[in-house]
Amino acid sequence: MAKDTRKMVVKVNQNVCVGGGLCVLSEPEVFDQREEDGVVALRTAYPDPSQYDAVLSAIRKCPSRAISVEYED
Ligand code: SF4
Repeated sequence: MAKDTRKMVVKVNQNVCVGGGLCVLSEPEVFDQREEDGVVALRTAYPDPSQYDAVLSAIRKCPSRAISVEYED
């Protein structure tokens, strides 16, 4: 099967994030937390392909389903 070369774009919903920081543990170069309340903040919406697995892992672990990804050509 051909490798998917589309670019991953990460989105977070700060309105539902509960601020536990599991996503940061999964991929600290993509996810961060706001200083004042711990709510998720993105360091980048465009992770390197080497980080895709960690981003998908963060999605699975997020208790509030605040993280999603789309793919761009
Ligand atoms: S894992 Fe989910 S709920 Fe926890 S800080 Fe990250 S986005 Fe927010």
